[in-house]
Amino acid sequence: MKAQPAASHFVDGAYVEDKAGAAIEVVYPATGEVIAVLHEATPAVVDAALASAARAQKDWAALRPVERARILSRAAALIREKGEELARLETLDTGKPLQETRVADWPSGADALEYFAGLAPTVTGETIPLGRDMVYTIREALGVCVGIGAWNYPSQIACWKSAPALAMGNAMVFKPSEVTPLGALKLAEIYIEAGLPAGLFNVVQGRGAVGGALVTDPRVAKVSLTGSVPTGRKVYAAAAEGVRHVTMELGGKSPLIVFDDASVEDAVGAAMLGNFYSAGQVCSNGTRVFVQKGIKARFLDRLAERSARIVLGDPMEEATQMGPLISAAQLEKVTGYIARAKAEGARLIAGGGRGPANDGWFVEPTVFADVTDAMEIAREEVFGPVMAVLDFETEEEAVARANATEFGLAAGVFTQDIARAHRVIAQLEAGTCWINAYNLTPVEAPFGGAKRSGVGRENGHAAIEHYSQVKSVYLGLGPVDAPY
Ligand code: NDP
Repeated sequence: MKAQPAASHFVDGAYVEDKAGAAIEVVYPATGEVIAVLHEATPAVVDAALASAARAQKDWAALRPVERARILSRAAALIREKGEELARLETLDTGKPLQETRVADWPSGADALEYFAGLAPTVTGETIPLGRDMVYTIREALGVCVGIGAWNYPSQIACWKSAPALAMGNAMVFKPSEVTPLGALKLAEIYIEAGLPAGLFNVVQGRGAVGGALVTDPRVAKVSLTGSVPTGRKVYAAAAEGVRHVTMELGGKSPLIVFDDASVEDAVGAAMLGNFYSAGQVCSNGTRVFVQKGIKARFLDRLAERSARIVLGDPMEEATQMGPLISAAQLEKVTGYIARAKAEGARLIAGGGRGPANDGWFVEPTVFADVTDAMEIAREEVFGPVMAVLDFETEEEAVARANATEFGLAAGVFTQDIARAHRVIAQLEAGTCWINAYNLTPVEAPFGGAKRSGVGRENGHAAIEHYSQVKSVYLGLGPVDAPY
């Protein structure tokens, strides 16, 4: 299987190669086969990408919003037309099953393009009357934005960042994770096919150093990162040097609180979706499932039964529900967490092994019960299909323990008691919350974290604010009253 793109980078409307950059081998996670070889961007490629973005941005920002919107809408339609081809490419890049990549990754990206195309022409300013004089405000583009992506939702991330950026009149230089570099290049092609002028969406490949070069370049006005907390700290600090705008979408260790009165089937289903989708490699996963004592036995029985039925295997097979982890390094990390959870006394009630084939980078959907707050598995982000179930007795206790973490990305509550649902959600320190649902992230809803999980929001009206700035214009309508 090969998925070699025309060249490594996409700059100023065309594929660009510079073999002087270190090689990046792209591996299909299901087999370990090398499906493409790319090269890291050299300083010359990074410079060309930023120069073309800076050049193209001014004319783009000068268009009427409806003209920008038309191009984004066309790109969304192209994504939908090419749905099957793109889903297969995403599966090759990430190892996620077709069952997911057909409905979640690119389709969610297309939603973002449609949504921000619709929103762009509706963005207006304020007029602020001051008696004789007045002030009006305009929401302006920031300029050149840098997007840096993680490997778990590579194409969705590229769309979620570029759609609001472009809609508001910015240009973007995007660096995918070097583990999953293919989808962003396709997006660049699609934008050009849809009529986006050259230079407005550039893709440069590379590891952290390339990201670092982008973040610190004086031409860059904003940086949007999806990644881990340690990388977020570094990128935030580097962006601060130039007082740049930032959006940080970082990791989490989110609580999902299940009260006694919840529907067991719904709560189990949500907990599984919130731990096993994309083989658990989802930042907002509810990896600490707090279950009230009265429902615990029934919850664990159904959870173990339903988890054991998940179909692992070849991601290209229609029936496969869970693929491998992204890499050998991630496999080692996740199996390490499983081994240490057992050693710390967590009770394994499902999975724990490497799957039927016992090879490749697969890990079975794994559930630990009787987990305590102090265990490593309850404190650290595993980023694999590993669920920790903890018991609790009272609402106050559940809220306090749920909040006892430096992360604050997401949280969920399952209960039939409507007052309790809202009361608990109001107290949870998290940016993205669900009541009787989990991990649904429609583009209409703002998405992002509190505490160390990040700053800024993607999606929803909120994203518009993070890709624009307000200019305030004082309009003097009479004589200037000077005391000298
Ligand atoms: P990393 O933090 O390792 O990397 C994220 C991106 O930053 C990659 O493209 C990486 O490049 C790049 N990078 C690394 N160092 C630097 C640097 N010094 N300057 C600029 N860029 C740099 O995350 P992963 O790719 O491993 O993704 C997993 C993490 O992402 C998890 O913690 C997860 O929770 C989080 N995540 C958060 C989401 C959210 O929206 N909140 C969504 C999805 C994931 P390279 O990989 O090539 O080294």
